Amino acid sequence: MVCTSVKDGYDCLFMNKKGCQFNGGSCHTVIEQCEGCLKVQDFPTGKYCLIFPDPPAKWRIGTCSMATHVKTTVKKGNGKINPLKASKRNAH
Ligand code: SF4
Repeated sequence: MVCTSVKDGYDCLFMNKKGCQFNGGSCHTVIEQCEGCLKVQDFPTGKYCLIFPDPPAKWRIGTCSMATHVKTTVKKGNGKINPLKASKRNAH
């Protein structure tokens, strides 16, 4: 249903005829770590995440899984040179 409280006009799963069913009765604003994420939206009531009603919970145990501004760096290889190839290269 469309939210009529903090994310006014936004279609939300937690909204029903009785009002917001999210724990506490409303979403929580984004936190410092969310700055720069594309999911942050400015509402007249504050800045909220479009996916998660409780952003602090997403950061409590590490990096938010849906953060668009955080690059997870995956290291490729072990950075070492193959010693066999390296010695052949030096032999000439
Ligand atoms: S997706 Fe994660 S990082 Fe982005 S605004 Fe929502 S809670 Fe914050």
